[in-house]
Amino acid sequence: MRSRKEIKVEAAKAANLLIMKGYCADKTHEWEKCPRRKQNEEPKCKNCWENGIKTEANHEAFSNKCKVRQKWDEIARSRIAYC
Ligand SMILES: [Zn+2]
Ligand SMILES: [Zn+2]
Repeated sequence: MRSRKEIKVEAAKAANLLIMKGYCADKTHEWEKCPRRKQNEEPKCKNCWENGIKTEANHEAFSNKCKVRQKWDEIARSRIAYC
């Protein structure tokens, strides 16, 4: 059985990955080279974009505005609470 600590580390890793990939849903370039990010354009949330919420994807994937992220947070919280 996994410890709480291990689960927290996993959640933190997943969150970091989200931040890295969070700004732009465009996969044709690397995050570091994102023209959108360099020009301070609106971010395009990968979570929302890929879940079909394209009209409301103008936030970063790790933003509190992100509905997909909110759902993930709830799942993560409930897992930590019940283990
Ligand atoms: Zn980009
Ligand atoms: Zn989003």
